[in-house]
Amino acid sequence: MKKISIALVGIGKIARDQHLPAIAADPRFELVACASRNASVEGVRNYPTLEALLAAEPNVEAVSLSAPPLPRFAQARTALSAGKHVMLEKPPGGCLSEVRALEQMASRAGLTLFASWHSRHALGVEAARTWLATQDIRSVNVRWKEDVRRWHPGQTWIWEPGGLGVFDPGINALSIVTWIMPRELALVSSTLGIPSNRQMPISADLELFDTAGVPVHVEFDWRHGPQELWEIEVKTADGVLLLSQGGNRLHIDGREVALGAVHEYPSLYAHWRNLIERGERDVDVRPLGIVADAFLLGRRESLEPFVE
Ligand code: NAP
Repeated sequence: MKKISIALVGIGKIARDQHLPAIAADPRFELVACASRNASVEGVRNYPTLEALLAAEPNVEAVSLSAPPLPRFAQARTALSAGKHVMLEKPPGGCLSEVRALEQMASRAGLTLFASWHSRHALGVEAARTWLATQDIRSVNVRWKEDVRRWHPGQTWIWEPGGLGVFDPGINALSIVTWIMPRELALVSSTLGIPSNRQMPISADLELFDTAGVPVHVEFDWRHGPQELWEIEVKTADGVLLLSQGGNRLHIDGREVALGAVHEYPSLYAHWRNLIERGERDVDVRPLGIVADAFLLGRRESLEPFVE
């Protein structure tokens, strides 16, 4: 089978933790080059910018972008303009309009754009979706709480406009909820806790309903610790479904469900490869749409300054 030559752009925490090992383990991809202003990867050719990489590496077919959302838009436009398939880290953009623009570019050029949501590939998510499809759902509670100092040390971009603040991890929960719930969700209220010296929230509390009136309550908090809490509880007429550990453990009615073994990022790359082979795109902006709505409807509470 022919390998797809890819490049990885924005070598930081998630690139090293997840992208590089997942690509190395996938026989259908070959990493040939990386672009990053301050970092390099052993065993491949390295460039300071995507532009320099594309000029020197005409055979690269696909580009995976793992920089923060704001610089990623220009990188995605550059890659699509050069005729490359593109995978976007989550969130797919700093705002909705840029993602739609990218989707149109990819569509017109016949290229694959994959707006990835790694949490949708967590081990328990697909089984939860299948079970919920036939259930009488009564309520949903999302608790996604972690210590920002532990999980995002030194990430100044995350507090700036476009960085999403506590929605950066929280959008992972929204990506799961929008996938496992059988009906569309609408936001009805939002409260954002914003440190007085920051632009983005450190906490958020959201109320949504699905089209059948099922309430979905969402709590995001970055002041939680030391043990993170990433769980979604769905009450149904036939028992409670609990997705915990970011979607990687699943209990239904108190019993643990045995799950498969393909983890999030290997599964993401396998999906991207399949999309490329089929000439398809996968761009679901609903999680980012709920975040945008939370800012539109958000009641702002000014909190004490956050000092890292
Ligand atoms: P990061 O380490 O702060 O940034 C990744 C790299 O992007 C940086 O090392 C930097 O490399 C490059 N970069 C940063 N600002 C840039 C700019 N203005 N222009 C061009 N390049 C820039 O962030 P991360 O934690 O890896 O997160 C990146 C994305 O992955 C985010 O969208 C995040 O939501 C997502 N994600 C993160 C995690 C996680 O656990 N951290 C998990 C899943 C998904 P150079 O300085 O070398 O250019």
